[in-house]
Amino acid sequence: MKKSYAFFLVLLIVNVLFAQSGSSDPVRVERLSERALMLTEDSPMENIIVAVATNKGIVVIDSTGSPATAAIFRKAIEKEFARNDFKYVINTHPHWDHAWGNQVFPEAIVIGHENSLGQTAQQARSAENMLRRGRERVIALQQGLQKAGNDADQKAKLLPEIAFQERIVQGLSATFTPVPPAISFSDTMTLDMGDVSFKLYFFGRAHSGSDIFIHIPAEKILVTGDIFLDQGWLPLFSGMETLDIPKWCEVLNRLFNDADGFSTVIPGHRKAWSRDKLKMWKEYIENLWTGINAAKKEKLTMAQVMERFPLEERYLYLKELGHSDQRIKEFHARNIEAFWRQLLIPVTALIEQTTQSDGIEAAVEKGRILWRDKKAEYDFSEPSLNRLGYRFLSQDNPSAAIGLFAFIVELYPASANAYDSLGEAYMVAGDKEMAVRNYEKSLELNAANQNAKDMLQRLRQN
Ligand SMILES: [Zn+2]
Repeated sequence: MKKSYAFFLVLLIVNVLFAQSGSSDPVRVERLSERALMLTEDSPMENIIVAVATNKGIVVIDSTGSPATAAIFRKAIEKEFARNDFKYVINTHPHWDHAWGNQVFPEAIVIGHENSLGQTAQQARSAENMLRRGRERVIALQQGLQKAGNDADQKAKLLPEIAFQERIVQGLSATFTPVPPAISFSDTMTLDMGDVSFKLYFFGRAHSGSDIFIHIPAEKILVTGDIFLDQGWLPLFSGMETLDIPKWCEVLNRLFNDADGFSTVIPGHRKAWSRDKLKMWKEYIENLWTGINAAKKEKLTMAQVMERFPLEERYLYLKELGHSDQRIKEFHARNIEAFWRQLLIPVTALIEQTTQSDGIEAAVEKGRILWRDKKAEYDFSEPSLNRLGYRFLSQDNPSAAIGLFAFIVELYPASANAYDSLGEAYMVAGDKEMAVRNYEKSLELNAANQNAKDMLQRLRQN
């Protein structure tokens, strides 16, 4: 009796210890097989990394967004595998939340797509911004925590986020070093690790410009980075203006026709997908792309295309992704628009060229005429024009940026973001009065524009 009581006590203590270490370690470890682990960060972003123990060493796919987080993941991998011979780190793409933990595996060789090379300086710059924002965020969250008082739900929500931001701050302080790929490839690459091989495919321009898929046939795993995500993200997560849709279809077809196959799809965040779910997306993309090309040949307008692809009738199965009906409709409309844009001529190229040869006024005048006469044939999308404006700014040409942002305001007079950009360009040009006026207009259109508030405060202080 006594003995079993003591045994129980020991069990209890072990359990408590385990639960505590579980709650302070922000990583969920899932064993997919003898050789493969899936590790998920317990944070609002739920970053996923995959580790495979092969005969020739451990291969890690992605490295989270902070060396501080990656160090915790590294320990968890070492513990699970009881070895630490890290050989390769493969980055699905170079975004911070996937590649900024690379330095934690200094003995490993980093592999990534060739388009991700040459971003080190830019990454170091954005790390500084991220560090500043992270510090501000920690302070704001801690104030929120104080306000939450005894509200257990609020606390449970805030604590992991505070810890997450603290890891970003800790990891991006003095010792942060971006580690670019030492091995890169253009279209496909096979990494032979003896018992396990990794087939790497460039997916084409989609989310980052250098997105790759990693197929591990021996484990029946396909790692897809940020191309397909759900729960709070765009299902078709295309961040780029120019999309290589035929290339996406080619890669997806190759993978689905591969006799070695895959059964589990592991995205860069949240949770694993089934093969069927990815198949659903493949069909959605193919149907939409074929249909939109046909519509273009029939000379339909964008509005008619939207009508031709009502979500309710053709893509009802998207509901399985767990978003609200309204959000799914928004995603769908955005996808159609992005696909449609691929068939248009980008007006930004013409504006950029004309600015170089004849100045911004002539360029805007050309744009204005095309907007009036040939609007349907050209891509006048606001984000692409906005990006060109920022390119002008980064090329130390604020007057061209002012001219272009003013043109965007003309085309999209209800856009708070357009006024915000115009305000920024005036600020860079040193025209305080016009900067204030445009930031105020932006706030008028969107009272929640925090950037405009901050900038106005700064402009009024000086
Ligand atoms: Zn990303």
